[in-house]
Amino acid sequence: MDFQFTEEQQLIRQMARDFAQAVVAPTAGERDREHRFPVEEFRQAAELGFAGMLVPEKYGGSELGTLGQCIVVEEISAACASMGVTISVHNGLCSGPLVRFGTDEQKQKWLPKLASGEVLGAYALSEANAGSDAAALTCKATPDGDGWVLNGAKLWITSGSHANMIIVFARAPEGISAFLVDTKSEGFSVGKVEEKVGIRSSSTVEIMLDKVKVGAECLLGDVGQGLKIAFNTLDGGRIGIAAQALGITQACLDASIKYANEREQFGRPLGSFQAIQWKLAQMSSELEAARLLTHKAAFLRDAGEPHTRIAAQAKLIASTLSNRSADEAVQIHGGAGYTTEFPVERYFRDARITEIYEGTTEVQNIVIARDLLG
Ligand SMILES: Cc1cc2nc3c(=O)[nH]c(=O)nc-3n(C[C@H](O)[C@H](O)[C@H](O)COP(=O)(O)OP(=O)(O)OC[C@H]3O[C@@H](n4cnc5c(N)ncnc54)[C@H](O)[C@@H]3O)c2cc1C
Repeated sequence: MDFQFTEEQQLIRQMARDFAQAVVAPTAGERDREHRFPVEEFRQAAELGFAGMLVPEKYGGSELGTLGQCIVVEEISAACASMGVTISVHNGLCSGPLVRFGTDEQKQKWLPKLASGEVLGAYALSEANAGSDAAALTCKATPDGDGWVLNGAKLWITSGSHANMIIVFARAPEGISAFLVDTKSEGFSVGKVEEKVGIRSSSTVEIMLDKVKVGAECLLGDVGQGLKIAFNTLDGGRIGIAAQALGITQACLDASIKYANEREQFGRPLGSFQAIQWKLAQMSSELEAARLLTHKAAFLRDAGEPHTRIAAQAKLIASTLSNRSADEAVQIHGGAGYTTEFPVERYFRDARITEIYEGTTEVQNIVIARDLLG
């Protein structure tokens, strides 16, 4: 067993950390206030290879794997959780399934552009009446000559307003199937833009499919294979969200340590009070544990080993930890933590979503229990 990152992984972490702190962090607060999508930050991330982390080198990717992606998403999320999920969804939920289930023709068409950042990817499974119960989706795929016509609406689509290609899950006569949809297609439009509590620099929108015609070459995997693709993709995506939550927790810890050293009450720094020390000790210890779990899940996915349960466990543990940590970080900052003067209020708002998307905390428990009980 080796707890040491490889030299390459250490370099990736340093590169991601430098990029996150120099490019992503300085605009994070402003983008959050203005609900502004990180267009320029994404472009620069792509230049570093962070838009093609699961894409094989032969298609122009950096091929860092799930663990490499974890490392990068954590560093970026520590600076800005909105940018973290933008990167995680683009890589894990769009390029990822294309790499796993796409034909060579589909890969040739999309992967180089996804890896270079010329194309931004998204993933559309959820609908108004199909959230936790994704299999209840009603978006329809009707056979039309060699291809298909898609009709329906998808809700909560991360990056949907800016995406160029979206993997859309729709119900065909033979069962739920996955389609690669070019957002320039006639009949595709963006509907309601969600006003959110947190991750406000990430866009979350409704997308409308009104008689969108797609060719036979747009079917991802086999017809009727959609749920298998969706759930396999979410196994990886959950590791990405766990990494996002780790980043938020690390940011909470760093901000809290800084404040505890600087702020004085009763003539002493806050950090000299045992009550504050214990909060920091707890946060740091749980972060180490959650990180090990998340990295193990990533390692198993990269190794092609079963990982559905451990991916759900990583997301469960890391996401709930990020919420406890953000709560404590605000508490350690006192009144200042409840203002926009300090970033912990953003961490507090951003952490909340990690327990909801890509399967709620309750759904993670269901996945874990199902695996345990058989
Ligand atoms: C900001 C944001 C971004 C998102 N991005 C995407 C995206 O890019 N693509 C996409 O497809 N989807 C996306 N989603 C959708 C997200 O995955 C769903 O919101 C999530 O799966 C929960 O579904 P729901 O909101 O319909 O809640 P519901 O399914 O209605 O659940 C409501 C509550 O009931 C609980 N519950 C439901 N069923 C059970 C059960 N059987 N046992 C116990 N408790 C249960 C849930 O845990 C939850 O607490 C996003 C959502 C948000 C908010």
